[in-house]
Amino acid sequence: MTDEITIRQEIRNLLIDNLLTAKDISKIIRIKEKDAIDHLNHIAKSVGKKNFIMEPSVCMKCGFVFNKRERLTSPGRCPVCKHEGISEPRFGIKKED
Ligand SMILES: [Zn+2]
Repeated sequence: MTDEITIRQEIRNLLIDNLLTAKDISKIIRIKEKDAIDHLNHIAKSVGKKNFIMEPSVCMKCGFVFNKRERLTSPGRCPVCKHEGISEPRFGIKKED
Protein backbone atom coordinates (compact mmCIF):
# COMPACT_ATOMS: atom_id res chain seq x y z
CA MET A 1 0.00 0.00 0.00
CA THR A 2 1.32 3.39 -0.95
CA ASP A 3 -0.32 6.59 0.17
CA GLU A 4 0.05 10.10 -1.18
CA ILE A 5 2.66 11.09 1.38
CA THR A 6 4.86 8.12 0.62
CA ILE A 7 4.69 8.85 -3.10
CA ARG A 8 5.55 12.47 -2.50
CA GLN A 9 8.50 11.51 -0.35
CA GLU A 10 9.66 9.12 -3.03
CA ILE A 11 9.50 11.85 -5.68
CA ARG A 12 11.38 14.22 -3.40
CA ASN A 13 14.16 11.68 -3.01
CA LEU A 14 14.34 11.22 -6.77
CA LEU A 15 14.69 14.95 -7.39
CA ILE A 16 17.53 15.66 -5.01
CA ASP A 17 20.55 16.47 -7.16
CA ASN A 18 18.72 15.08 -10.17
CA LEU A 19 16.74 16.72 -12.99
CA LEU A 20 13.68 14.84 -14.21
CA THR A 21 10.61 15.62 -16.31
CA ALA A 22 7.09 14.89 -15.07
CA LYS A 23 7.05 12.06 -17.59
CA ASP A 24 10.24 10.55 -16.14
CA ILE A 25 8.72 10.71 -12.66
CA SER A 26 5.45 9.16 -13.80
CA LYS A 27 7.37 6.24 -15.33
CA ILE A 28 9.60 5.66 -12.33
CA ILE A 29 6.86 5.90 -9.69
CA ARG A 30 4.18 4.44 -11.96
CA ILE A 31 1.65 7.20 -11.59
CA LYS A 32 -0.10 9.38 -14.15
CA GLU A 33 1.83 12.33 -15.51
CA LYS A 34 -0.95 14.60 -14.28
CA ASP A 35 -0.55 13.22 -10.76
CA ALA A 36 3.20 13.74 -10.98
CA ILE A 37 2.52 17.43 -11.73
CA ASP A 38 0.20 17.63 -8.69
CA HIS A 39 2.89 16.19 -6.46
CA LEU A 40 5.47 18.53 -7.97
CA ASN A 41 3.26 21.51 -7.15
CA HIS A 42 3.12 20.44 -3.51
CA ILE A 43 6.82 19.69 -3.40
CA ALA A 44 7.64 23.09 -4.94
CA LYS A 45 5.66 24.78 -2.17
CA SER A 46 7.14 22.75 0.63
CA VAL A 47 10.78 23.10 -0.40
CA GLY A 48 10.37 26.76 -1.38
CA LYS A 49 11.40 28.68 -4.49
CA LYS A 50 15.00 28.86 -3.41
CA ASN A 51 15.45 25.09 -3.37
CA PHE A 52 13.08 23.97 -6.09
CA ILE A 53 14.70 23.87 -9.51
CA MET A 54 12.68 24.17 -12.67
CA GLU A 55 14.70 23.98 -15.83
CA PRO A 56 12.49 25.81 -18.33
CA SER A 57 11.02 24.42 -21.53
CA VAL A 58 12.76 25.36 -24.76
CA CYS A 59 11.33 25.64 -28.27
CA MET A 60 13.11 23.04 -30.33
CA LYS A 61 12.80 25.11 -33.50
CA CYS A 62 13.85 28.65 -32.58
CA GLY A 63 15.36 28.08 -29.15
CA PHE A 64 12.93 30.33 -27.28
CA VAL A 65 13.26 29.70 -23.52
CA PHE A 66 10.10 29.75 -21.41
CA ASN A 67 11.80 31.51 -18.53
CA LYS A 68 8.79 33.28 -17.12
CA ARG A 69 6.52 30.29 -17.03
CA GLU A 70 5.29 29.44 -13.55
CA ARG A 71 3.14 26.47 -14.45
CA LEU A 72 4.81 23.11 -14.26
CA THR A 73 3.24 21.61 -17.37
CA SER A 74 4.95 21.98 -20.73
CA PRO A 75 3.64 24.77 -22.96
CA GLY A 76 1.59 23.87 -26.04
CA ARG A 77 3.40 25.98 -28.56
CA CYS A 78 6.06 28.60 -28.98
CA PRO A 79 4.83 32.22 -28.78
CA VAL A 80 7.56 33.33 -31.18
CA CYS A 81 7.52 30.84 -34.05
CA LYS A 82 4.30 28.88 -33.20
CA HIS A 83 6.18 25.62 -33.37
CA GLU A 84 4.66 22.85 -31.23
CA GLY A 85 7.83 20.94 -30.49
CA ILE A 86 8.64 22.18 -27.00
CA SER A 87 10.95 20.39 -24.61
CA GLU A 88 9.47 19.36 -21.28
CA PRO A 89 10.55 21.28 -18.20
CA ARG A 90 12.77 19.36 -15.83
CA PHE A 91 12.60 19.52 -12.07
CA GLY A 92 15.00 19.07 -9.23
CA ILE A 93 15.63 19.90 -5.60
CA LYS A 94 18.77 21.53 -4.30
CA LYS A 95 20.36 19.57 -1.56
CA GLU A 96 20.32 21.49 1.68
CA ASP A 97 23.61 21.78 3.41
ZN1 LIG B 1 9.95 28.79 -31.37
